[in-house]
Amino acid sequence: MKPSIGAKSDVGRVRDGNEDSYLVQEPIFVVADGMGGHLAGDVASRIAVQTISERAGDGAAADPEAIEKAVKEANAAIYEKASSDPSLHGMGTTCTLVLVADSEIHIAHVGDSRAYLLRDGELSQLTEDHTLVGRMVKEGRLQPEEAERHPQRSIITRALGVDDHVEVDLQTIPVEEGDKVLICSDGLSSMIDSDSIQNVLASNDDPQRAVDELIDRANDAGGEDNITAVVLAFDGGEGGLAARGAESAPPTEEVEATRSPRRDESVQPRAEPKDVTGAFEVSAARPSRRGSRPILVTLVLVALVIAAAAAAFKYLIVANSYYVAANDTGRLAIYRGLPDEVMGMTFQEELETSDVTVDELPSFLMEDVNDAIEADSLEHARTTLANLEERAQDDEFQRRRDAEDGGSG
Ligand code: MG
Repeated sequence: MKPSIGAKSDVGRVRDGNEDSYLVQEPIFVVADGMGGHLAGDVASRIAVQTISERAGDGAAADPEAIEKAVKEANAAIYEKASSDPSLHGMGTTCTLVLVADSEIHIAHVGDSRAYLLRDGELSQLTEDHTLVGRMVKEGRLQPEEAERHPQRSIITRALGVDDHVEVDLQTIPVEEGDKVLICSDGLSSMIDSDSIQNVLASNDDPQRAVDELIDRANDAGGEDNITAVVLAFDGGEGGLAARGAESAPPTEEVEATRSPRRDESVQPRAEPKDVTGAFEVSAARPSRRGSRPILVTLVLVALVIAAAAAAFKYLIVANSYYVAANDTGRLAIYRGLPDEVMGMTFQEELETSDVTVDELPSFLMEDVNDAIEADSLEHARTTLANLEERAQDDEFQRRRDAEDGGSG
């Protein structure tokens, strides 16, 4: 059965860049969400989609065994790129892949993007979220309703690119005429509830209209994250991209991913990490352009401007910048200021110290902490620290349980 297809990715209302990527390359459909709070999540999601696109282009990913392999190859490609480029260190991505076969779909899944099925007007979530709260719900430590509002709901426990090995969830679902399948990033599922998703899918036969309305609703609800949705409508038609009016645009990712699948150099970070030193030097260098003034006056002016700029810099930027890193004794701490030296000077002050040490964290988070995790407010830094502490405890819990399991049998 060939589905009609709708697809779109939107930056949302809050984020500066879009770290989601998607692939529409029949019979393969993918949504990948670059890891939030990590560097270069957009690069990670693009490598995932491009690697899978290449495998599918080779005809190698078109059966259920091969999709697991394709996802694992994507993992290896991201991990390798992250290991070879310090600016991309710690990047990761979710990956939810749907392969459409004759009367069934095969799903390969890692992370907290989701696949849903609408059948006879009823919506069901096909994938399981690989999140800390998802695991707590599974273990009966948290109610599903609590999980939806939990402050740590975005911490994922499995992602592509953070380790050289990844476990991929695989399943096969029979599809019937009339079914609709939605693949989406958490920027959709965390902003609108499942009733809303069900309503939109049930009331829009055109899958592109369904996608557009889902994204509009997520934006109306705040659009706090990047939003990506791919809808497959098994409507008994000839399939393909849904016929639309003049306003419709083909999914950009399909065009990019299928036309240039092998150009690895096209995978670039969308935005360079902010370079405070560079910005500072530019503002300090301006007075020297006044070449007609006597040298002494110029030097004094330059010194004054540098002093004023440094003071402004310290009070405007440093006073409002926070980050989480390990202190001299290895304990996690919240700092006010900037983690790196600026023109040979350091601007930082340890504000709050945790009992948790950096070596209690899983290795990929340890690396993030060693690089310093920046926050745009003290509150945000505290949330980050609380997340890390929770993660350390969870790892400890897991280790103890493993030890008990080992001891009893
Ligand atoms: Mg997201």
